[in-house]
Amino acid sequence: MKFSFRAMWNYKCPRCRKGDLYKKPLVISNPLDMNKRCEHCDLDFYPQPGYYYGAMFLSYITSSWFLLLICLGLVFGLGWSVNAAMVLTIFVALISFLRFLRGSRSLWLHITTKYDERYAKEH
Ligand SMILES: [Zn+2]
Repeated sequence: MKFSFRAMWNYKCPRCRKGDLYKKPLVISNPLDMNKRCEHCDLDFYPQPGYYYGAMFLSYITSSWFLLLICLGLVFGLGWSVNAAMVLTIFVALISFLRFLRGSRSLWLHITTKYDERYAKEH
């Protein structure tokens, strides 16, 4: 089965798409507090030390392009001044920080782990 943007966006386990990656509720002082294993299919969310090192690069790449496109769109598309566009871009960066931080780990897991229907149906 193909990559599921919905499962990635909702921080679901990449193998069964049912278990949650992150503990709930979100604690703002520890936003990367993940479950050790999937509660549904028992997938190990920490398969090796430094596993999420690659997620750091994904976070950098996705957030940089996202913010750059917003800034360029405001300046060249809508004719805003550079300063006004930078203020709005910094504001968007602040409010989207947690989404990129947590989403990059979710995306990394979804890129490196295949969906398996057998695990989705069990239980
Ligand atoms: Zn699972």
